[in-house]
Amino acid sequence: MYWDRENETMSRDELADLQLKKLKASVERTYNNVPFCRQSFEKKGVTPEDVQTLDDLRKLPFTIKNDLRDNYPFGLFAEPLDKVVRLQASSGTTGKPIVAGYTQNDIYLWANLIARALVMAGGTNKDIVQVGYGYGLFTGGMGAHYGAERLGATVVPVSSGNTDRQLMLMQDFGTTMLACTPSYALYLGEEGAKRGIDFTKMPLKAGVFGAEPWSERMREQLEQKLDIKAFDIYGLTEVMGPGVAMECQAKQGLHIFEDHFFAEVIDPETEEPLPYGKPGELVITSLTKEAFPVIRYRTRDITILNPEPCSCGRTHVRMQRITGRTDDMLIIKGVNVFPSQIESVLLEFGETEPHYLLVVDRKGNLDDIEIWVELSSEMFNDKVRKLEDLERRIFSRIHSVLGISVPIKLVEPQTIPRSEGKAKRIVDRREI
Ligand code: ADP
Ligand code: ZN
Repeated sequence: MYWDRENETMSRDELADLQLKKLKASVERTYNNVPFCRQSFEKKGVTPEDVQTLDDLRKLPFTIKNDLRDNYPFGLFAEPLDKVVRLQASSGTTGKPIVAGYTQNDIYLWANLIARALVMAGGTNKDIVQVGYGYGLFTGGMGAHYGAERLGATVVPVSSGNTDRQLMLMQDFGTTMLACTPSYALYLGEEGAKRGIDFTKMPLKAGVFGAEPWSERMREQLEQKLDIKAFDIYGLTEVMGPGVAMECQAKQGLHIFEDHFFAEVIDPETEEPLPYGKPGELVITSLTKEAFPVIRYRTRDITILNPEPCSCGRTHVRMQRITGRTDDMLIIKGVNVFPSQIESVLLEFGETEPHYLLVVDRKGNLDDIEIWVELSSEMFNDKVRKLEDLERRIFSRIHSVLGISVPIKLVEPQTIPRSEGKAKRIVDRREI
C-alpha cells in the first residue's frame, strides 16, 4: 500500500531529474530571499547558477545549528511572516530554541508526508491513531496529528503524559495505532501490564515511534509487550519535524522522502561527502519547503545510506536507523560509543529491565562511564551471588561487543526515571 505511489516508486533516474529541478528552484529562492544564505554563498564564491547537476550541490556551503541560533528567531525564513501560518520549535536544551516556520503549503506537505508514513506502517482511514507525542512547540504532536487527519484516520490528540488516561482511552476507544517516543511506549506497556491490561486482546496493531534513538532490541521489547508491529520514524525541527524518513513493512532501514529532501552523508571531520554504504553524518537539503528552506543542513545524526531496491517497491534511499548524534557520542578510553549501542547489549539480558542510565564523569582528559541498569522485580529478590554474576556477565558482554570495560551498577526496580517524551539516557557529571 502506498499513499502516493507515483512519487514513492518512481525510478531513481526520474527521481534524480525531479530532484534537480526542485533543487535549482529552491536554491535560487533561498538565495534571493534569505540574506544570510546569500552572504554564505558569497563567502564560498558560489551562486545558484553553479548548481547544474545534483553533484554540484557539493559546492554549496553547509548550514549548521549555530547558523539557526545566530539568526533566531526568523532570520532564515524565506517568506514574510504574513505567509507563515505556524511556528514550531525544538526543545533547545541549551540556549535559544531552534524555530521553524511553515506556510500553508508547508503544513500541507508535512501532513501528506506523515500520512505517507502512517500508510507505510499499515495505516488507513479506518485507524484510530492515538498521538502520545507532546503537543505544543515540539513538532511531534502537531506533526503526527495533521498527518493522521490527512490520512482520514480518527485522531486521539491525547499528547504525552497522563499515563492512566492514556491507557484508559486506548482501551475505551479501541486505539489501533500509537504514535509516541519509543521510551514512552515502553513505559505505557509496562504500566498497562501492571494494571492487568492484556495487550493481545486490544486492537492496537502498530506503533510509529521516533524522536530519539532506539535499538532493534528495543523494537523486540515493544512488539512483544504491546503486541504490535513497531516502526521507526525520523525527522528534526530544522528540516520539518517527523516525517523526513520512515520505515516500511520490510523494516530494513528508513526510506528518506527524497522527492522532498535531498540526503547526503559526510565525514563529520573532513566534511567530504561519503559514498553510499559508509557511515557518517546525515546532511539534508529541503527541495520544496517554502518558509524555512535549508541547504545542506548538518543534522549531526549518524547513519548509512542504502540505495538498493526495497522489497516494498519504494525506490527512495534507505537510511540505517540512527545510532546517535555526534553530540551524544561518548569517547570511552578512545572508543566511540553511542548510548544506543549500550542499550542494544543491555536488552539482551532478560534479568534486567530496558531502563538504564549512563553516568558520565571525567577522569583527567578521558570520559569515564558507569552503567546503571534496572533489575526486574523477580531478579531483585535473588541472592547476592546471582546478582554479582549478572553484573559480571553484562560487563563481559559489553566488553566483547563494544571493546570497553565499564563498571555496571544494578539498581532497584522502578528507580530510573521514566520519560514521557524523549528519554534522558545520560547523566553528565563532567565539569565542562
Ligand atoms: P531537539 O534537537 O531538541 O531534540 P528535535 O525534536 O528537532 O529537537 O529532535 C530531532 C533529533 O531527534 C534528530 O536530529 C535526531 O537526533 C533525533 N531523532 C528523531 N527521530 C529519531 C529516530 N527515529 N531515531 C533516532 N533519533 C531520532
Ligand atoms: Zn521499503
